[in-house]
Amino acid sequence: MQFIVLDLEWNQPMTFQVGGYRAAHGKLLFEMLQIGAVKLDSQLQICDTFNQLIQPSCYFRIHPHIRKITQITEDDVADAPLFTEAYNSFNNWCGEDSVLLTWGCDDISVFDQNIHYFGCQQPLLPVYDMQQYFSQLIGSPKERKSLKSAMEYYQIDPNEDKSFHNAANDAYYTALVFAHMEDPEKVLSFPLKARTLVHQDRRKRTTLSVHRASRGPAAVIKTQFAQKTPCPVCGRLNPLSVGYVKQGSDKYTALAKCESHGLYYARLHFYTDEQKVRQAERVTALIEEQNKAYVSTKILQWENKLSAQTQEKERKKQVREQKKRDNSSGETT
Ligand SMILES: [Zn+2]
Repeated sequence: MQFIVLDLEWNQPMTFQVGGYRAAHGKLLFEMLQIGAVKLDSQLQICDTFNQLIQPSCYFRIHPHIRKITQITEDDVADAPLFTEAYNSFNNWCGEDSVLLTWGCDDISVFDQNIHYFGCQQPLLPVYDMQQYFSQLIGSPKERKSLKSAMEYYQIDPNEDKSFHNAANDAYYTALVFAHMEDPEKVLSFPLKARTLVHQDRRKRTTLSVHRASRGPAAVIKTQFAQKTPCPVCGRLNPLSVGYVKQGSDKYTALAKCESHGLYYARLHFYTDEQKVRQAERVTALIEEQNKAYVSTKILQWENKLSAQTQEKERKKQVREQKKRDNSSGETT
């Protein structure tokens, strides 16, 4: 088996509202501009490199932000092969019995979306996450360290002629990090699956619904309105993962999970409208970060918050009851 370290650069539409992005039916969030990869021999030495620019089919203007960080210009990619051709030559270069290594899951999600969008037949080789393995090695499995900080950790100095944010150079640096890791083969315990990329606005999309709250928060929280909430992306109703935590005088937030779109907040806000009617407004909003470690930490934190709040309520209740008892015993004597 051969290790291939992969890095990509990609472009994004100038705006997600018009033109190319809509023409792509919202199915191509980022269009790949460059594939950079290095092949390692059994001694984990770099034995071959792959560096291919890709001609855009969808977003012809390179976003200024992307141009600034990658230094890739429209002229650079004008005569490059189209995605399908670039992908096929990458696969041929990789050969069979190879696995891909990347730093984090972003590259693979973008790659996967491009492969689907351009209708390529050949599936991507298996991919493993060096970033997760690195976090594990340094004893903070929940953190996502940058490639640069891993290089600092192993005292790898960047070359002056190899700038970052160039797929070929980043792949090269990632390979150096890999060669420094202890038990590098253990990276195979960290398989990666592509995430479905959804545009920020859609990911942040919220649902909003209002419900008469004549019976007060405690009663409303028990209703289906509060307990089964719609996923902000697809609208499917999901039960809560962790119940409502009070946040401020009239606000309550819970966590729920959609099988397809991940973890989201369900928030209730109680207020009195212009007709002096008490209302509960329910908003659901997808949580930005959806990686597994983040989601499980978030759930754990929420459970802790909730149980702290429940305990505090219980404690106050006992204090009140004690006071009542004290008062009534005071009255009888
Ligand atoms: Zn959903």
